Amino acid sequence: MCQIVVVLDPNSRTTVFYIEEILAHAGISYDLIHARDLGHQIDLCTVIILIGDLHFDQSDRNKIEEYVKSGGTAIWLNSDPTLSEIFGVKLTEEIEEGYLIELETSSTITSGLQSSLHVFGGTKFHATTGTPLAKLVDIQYQPAGDAIVENRYGKGYTIALAADLIGSIVLIQQGIPVTQDGQPAPDGSASIDDDILKTEDGFVLNWKWDRTPIVPSTQPVFLEPITDELRELIVKAILRCFEVKSQSTPILWYYPRGLKSIAMMSHDSDHNDQQLAWSLLNVTDQLNIKTTWCIIYPGGYIPEFYQKLQDWDYEIALHFDALTKKTYTNWTQDDFNYQHQWLIQEAGIPTLKSNKNHYTRWENRLEFFHWCQAKGIEVDQSKGPSKHGTIGFPFGGSHPWYPIDDNGKRINVLEINMLTQDLVITCPVFYGRGLIDSVSRHYGIAHFLFHPAHIEKPNVRDAVIDVVEYAHLQGMEWWTSEQIGDWEQKRRQIRIIHQRHDRFTITSPISVGSVTFIFLIPDTINDFSIQIDGRLIDWKPISIYGCNFAEIIIDIAANQEIKVQL
Ligand SMILES: [Zn+2]
Repeated sequence: MCQIVVVLDPNSRTTVFYIEEILAHAGISYDLIHARDLGHQIDLCTVIILIGDLHFDQSDRNKIEEYVKSGGTAIWLNSDPTLSEIFGVKLTEEIEEGYLIELETSSTITSGLQSSLHVFGGTKFHATTGTPLAKLVDIQYQPAGDAIVENRYGKGYTIALAADLIGSIVLIQQGIPVTQDGQPAPDGSASIDDDILKTEDGFVLNWKWDRTPIVPSTQPVFLEPITDELRELIVKAILRCFEVKSQSTPILWYYPRGLKSIAMMSHDSDHNDQQLAWSLLNVTDQLNIKTTWCIIYPGGYIPEFYQKLQDWDYEIALHFDALTKKTYTNWTQDDFNYQHQWLIQEAGIPTLKSNKNHYTRWENRLEFFHWCQAKGIEVDQSKGPSKHGTIGFPFGGSHPWYPIDDNGKRINVLEINMLTQDLVITCPVFYGRGLIDSVSRHYGIAHFLFHPAHIEKPNVRDAVIDVVEYAHLQGMEWWTSEQIGDWEQKRRQIRIIHQRHDRFTITSPISVGSVTFIFLIPDTINDFSIQIDGRLIDWKPISIYGCNFAEIIIDIAANQEIKVQL
């Protein structure tokens, strides 16, 4: 039995199931149960999370009420309206689109967030007995009630989150189907109506409310990763419940060796000029970083170059061309498959793990992810800006994300959003540092694109050096997209199982080295200790999400249970 139980109705809207992806990426272990089974198990939980279209009968409602009254904690995410009294709110109506504003800075849940917290759909409410921690406004910024309400009910503690946070994360990440040009920015900063269908044409964020400039520039960009913060709200609501209960729980951290964030550099080989390729490779080699080379059809690099990339542990990925619209370069699955096979032969590599689309081309919504999945491409990097005004996080996050299919299942292609194209060429060099700062604050991945075609232009080489060195100063390592995808796949195999009270086991079917775990230390605990397989171990105090944690780094052998006692 887990400490955290997520209660779902299998007949809910499919985006509701994205909670599994959000918690899995956050490294939080949970049990998923059907509403009808909650009654049997409720007393064993530390926190229950009620999500989506749930409709409890009277007897189950009574059990939930008893559970909270006797000291349980619960989180309400756009769920059964008949439970509103327990959560200290009164539901009003649906909201189409809005923002979470006026966040209470003294609360664990709402401190440290600075994006526009743009949300789509879900329920409005206002606090009755509960305490509001944030307000909700509609798309015109008119008051629409409270957004986050915490409540004491009997001996228990509850949190209600208005609007459909999970659906909002999915919509911002995946966008709407790309079938025509998007609306350009009214200030002329992003003319995405360029007759080329691309990822930006499906984006749903707001030109006015979701952008801020990178100082000292005055031109707005998507500087704050909104979906990172919407995810964080859910994670921090869970952490708050543990604080209230004076309990801890192991969280599988995003990266190994205690790394707090990662950087990635990709290169699109447009024009395939050999001299410029050597020139760029020379720069990254001197900086001692490994990067991802996305190669465009019909190629042109000599075999020695591909060999050098492989010998030096650089990644070779596909740069799918559906822009040229000549033979084999159209937006069709056949042409994608053709180019995939072509590159494997051209570069002399056994498999391809990753892709970025030339000019961030995109059509429809999910079909391209399916094409990738069918070919075993595990990482895509196409979601990102092609214009100055869409630089940053137009798809919401600095965290890599798996898409959810319309049937509620995960599509096994990790999207690593790209933050900007070439510094100097598309934006000033200092944008690099501003974007890295945003990523650092959210423990995400800073993905920069530099084309070899621009490397010999004035100041570009220095820009590459500056962004690499600045990321290093923030403690980031530079990884290839394959390394990022492989790590995410690996860490998803690790299981944390709650045994009882303060005992856990950690297992994995494969061996994984230098895994980072963090344990919340509630303020009320002053003699926190961690035993691994019966031995007390040293831990490092760190602050994450505004809370105190103990960090440990361990190696996990395949199929060997690690016993953790707090
Ligand atoms: Zn390109």
